[in-house]
Parts: sequence; C-alpha cells; structure tokens
Amino acid sequence: MAGTKIVATIGPSSFKTDVLEKMYRYGLSCIRINTAHIEAGYIAKVKETLESLNRKTGMHVGVMVDLKGPELRTGTFPGGHMLVKAGQKLRLSLGGSEGDITLSHPEIAKGLEPKETLLLSDGRVRMRVLSKDSSAIWLESLDAGDLRDRSRVNIPGKFLPLGTLTERDLQFLQEGVAAGVEFFAQSFVQRKEDVMTLQKEVSERGGDQLIVSKIETKSGYVNIKEISRVSDFVMVARGDLGVELPLKEVAMAQKHIIEESHKHGVPAIVATQMLESMVKSSSPTRAEVSDVTNAILDNTDAVMLSEESAVGDYPDLAVRYLNEIAEFVESRSSNYAEPREFLGNHVAYSIARASKIVASEIEASAIVTFSKTGNTPKMISAVRPGIPIISAVPLRGLANKLSLYSGVVPLLIENSSNDLSDFENIMSAVEKKTGLKKGERVVVTSGAPYFLFGGTNDVRVATIGKFMGRGYPSGKNFKGTVTSKLDRSGDIYVTKNLRGARISDLADFTGIIFLEGIGHASEEELSETGIPFIHNTKLLKGLDDGTNVYVDGSTGVITS
Ligand code: PEP
Repeated sequence: MAGTKIVATIGPSSFKTDVLEKMYRYGLSCIRINTAHIEAGYIAKVKETLESLNRKTGMHVGVMVDLKGPELRTGTFPGGHMLVKAGQKLRLSLGGSEGDITLSHPEIAKGLEPKETLLLSDGRVRMRVLSKDSSAIWLESLDAGDLRDRSRVNIPGKFLPLGTLTERDLQFLQEGVAAGVEFFAQSFVQRKEDVMTLQKEVSERGGDQLIVSKIETKSGYVNIKEISRVSDFVMVARGDLGVELPLKEVAMAQKHIIEESHKHGVPAIVATQMLESMVKSSSPTRAEVSDVTNAILDNTDAVMLSEESAVGDYPDLAVRYLNEIAEFVESRSSNYAEPREFLGNHVAYSIARASKIVASEIEASAIVTFSKTGNTPKMISAVRPGIPIISAVPLRGLANKLSLYSGVVPLLIENSSNDLSDFENIMSAVEKKTGLKKGERVVVTSGAPYFLFGGTNDVRVATIGKFMGRGYPSGKNFKGTVTSKLDRSGDIYVTKNLRGARISDLADFTGIIFLEGIGHASEEELSETGIPFIHNTKLLKGLDDGTNVYVDGSTGVITS
C-alpha cells in the first residue's frame, strides 16, 4: 500500500458492502460523509457498517463527518430562477423582501462597500457594488447568467460574520460524537477562532474527534498560518477555493497551504476533482493522473475523492488508481522537507527524527512505535521516513485516526495484551499481523520507564522474530535449520569451536555459529572461503537441532 492516504466520500455508489470491501482492498484509509446530502441516522449507519468491515478485514478505516457551516446564499426568485444580462443593474435587499436579490444573511449586505465584488452561482455570475443607500445596495452584473433559487454567494477576501455552526451542523455533530466517528471536517473556516469553537462544541459533548479545517475561502487561505496551528489536519478544498481565488492561483495555493501546515507538522488532504472523469469513465485522464502526482510531490498526506466515490460509476477503481499512482510516485521521490517546528513534546520529536536517521542507516524495513496517545507516530509521519510506521496502539478509535497519517500502519493491541510497555509482546504482534518477516530489522520507539504516562524517550534497533542470542559476525546474513552434526542434516552448523573440523568440512553449510572465539587466524581463513559465521556467541538457552534461525550478518543477532 502507498504511504499517501486515501479519503473517499460515501454516497449511493459506494455505500454497499461489496463495493466498500473492494475499496478497502485497494487502499482506502477514511470515509467522508458530506452532511449536505444526508438525513438523520445516516452517520450511525455508515459507522456501523465500517466497524464491521474493520473487524472483518483487520483494517482501520475511520469516518470523517463534513459539517457544512453557515453558507451565504441568495433567496428565491419568482418562477425559481432569474436570468441576468451583463451590465444589468440590480437591487440587493438590505432586509425586507423588496429588491431583485435577497441574501440568506441580510446583515452581510449592510457591510458591503462600493467596488466590492460578489460571486454568485459558484462564481459564474460576478456582480459589482455600485452604490448603497438606506434601503438597498445597487449592483451591476458583470456576466450574463441564470441564477437559481438559493444560489451560493461568495465575497472573496471579506470576513463574513456568519457564525461557525448551524443548527443542522450541531445535530450532525451530536450524531457523530454518539456514533464515535474519528474526524469532523469544518467547512468555510475563516480564522482560528472557528476551529476553536468547533473543538469546544466537540469536547462539551464528550467527543475526542480530530478537526480537519477546510481551506476554501480567501480569508481561510490568508489566515492559513494561524488556522493550521490549531487544527489536526487541513484540507485544500479546491472546489470552493477555486471560486474564491482566480482558478489560475489554485495550484499554487495548494502548495502554499501544504507547506505552511507542514512547517509545524500538521498534515494536509488535497480534495476535489482529483479523478473527476472517473464519475463516468473507468480510467482517469492524463491531466488527472498528473494532478494526483503533483499533489503527492507537494507532499500531501492524503488525497480525497468526492463525486467519484459518492455518485460515480467506478468508486472502487478510483481508489485503486489513487493508490497505484501514489505507490509509483513515492517509489521515485523521497526528498521531503521536515517540519521546522513541531508543536508538542520536543523530546519525542527528536526521537522521531532520530528514528528516521537510524532507519535509513541500517536499511530498516519499518519503524515500530508503541504509542498510547498517537503523538509519536504523528511526529514520525511528519518527518517522512519513507518506510511504514507500524503503530501499536491500545484503542480501536485511535488506530482508525492514525490510518489517515501518511505512512502509518495502525496495529491494534487489545484486551489482555494491551500492556504496551511489554516489548516482546508487541514485537510478536508485529510479526504476526504485518508482512514483516523474521530477520528483518526495524527501529522501535517507546517510552521507558514512564511509557504509560505518555512520553517517547527511547529509540532502539530490533530484529523481527524471537531473540535467541548474539555473536560477533563475519559475512552476510544467513538463515536455515541448525545442526550440531557435520553430516549436513541442517543448513547451519553449531559448534563450540573449530577444533576437530577442517575448513573444507564446512564448505556446504549456509553459515556457522561458533559458541567460543575461534582466534584471529581461523577467522581470516574462514572469511576467505566466504562462509558467513558468528563466533563468541552467547545464547539465551541452547539451540536444538532442527530449529529455524535467522542470523543478522551485521549485528550477529540470532532470531527464531
Ligand atoms: C471543496 O469545496 O472542495 C470541498 C471539498 O467541499 P465540498 O465537497 O463540501 O464542496
């Protein structure tokens, strides 16, 4: 699976067990519920379905509830719509029903000033403020167009005091907390106070959901630095952002939002129109593949599907394409900037950076983190080690949250075995539940001795498998069954020393384990034959003939 994570919006096309199962198989990390299109009770149904799939597959796909926030819209028009001509003058009402156009929040009209521009109907019809008097605002339409009832209105760059959450948002917030979803996405975030208000509402209801701030207004974009510092994730919501900013600026804005959030380790999701043609087509366009590639090169943590998975004909294939593109791009590119300043425990952050360096030096297959809160895997994800970050955690909800962090592979250690300070216990779960094989090297971070109180302070190297002992190595890694006889009844000859055997007798063995030192001259002689060996070996207990072992040629560690 790719390190880049995949969010898919659920809808009629994908809310089917067989389709979801395929999406899981192809690399899904998180499901988004767009509350613009749902009824009460839907969140609990989705969460229940995903939980049973998570248990069936052993994966940890989380749920993100996207709250729509207060939107500025026009009122209704006689006959359901209004045709406007370019150059036409129109009256915007300041309150009552008089005027050609009314606003869902008439107080916003009062704050308009001449020369300001309103974008109606997703930016298709621009209107400029000509003048204002005590009863109305006069607008001039710059474009011809057909305005429908309740058309969206944007006023780029203007802070809109619309409040943060609507009654409908609060209802879905309550449902989301009750259902135990993992994330709330907040639409139209304009400043950090919006995020803090949502955080407060969540915790007042007893929730611990992570907050995804959708950057889709010019105000949100301008305030990205302060917004990202209080958010758990940011989303480059390119649909609305492309209305508020000139379209030509959106790709550069995407780079800026990701870079600014990453400066202090806050992950980003790039959303909207990533594979839009796949709503109807079984393969994406070249330009879409190029857009996904570019988002990954921008170092996004996750990419998101909207219509493609909600109402498209190929929701599973869209996930598969995203995963395939991400795997390929990640295999070709690894030079990503680290956060300049991680907000949080500085000791744990330096351990995160150290684990990346050690892993790269020893060519480790993975980094294993023992984490009670998820903070250390988040930090390691932010430094992008380029290998899987296997994160042993004691809670299912936390595992589902960590699924959305780039490179993180959650590993749930539940019930009686949930003592995360037990090294052997975790390593045996890592071996059983991940694709790592005996003998592979991993870097492990944990917090000793006060792990249970939170606080990673330890980084060490471990080998997958049961530790059997260690000697001083010469030559490459070797593995196979051990034998104490020279008759070649096993692959690896275990003996006290060289006495009684000629070097030529050893030629057919894959490797030799000497329990004593063999002396410099014999070491030289044996090295020249190319047979790998370890000597001066200390064993935890004896090695019975027939035992399968792996010997690390650079550390001399024997595992079984
Ligand atoms: C967007 O505008 O890009 C977005 C992700 O939000 P929504 O799907 O709610 O329009």
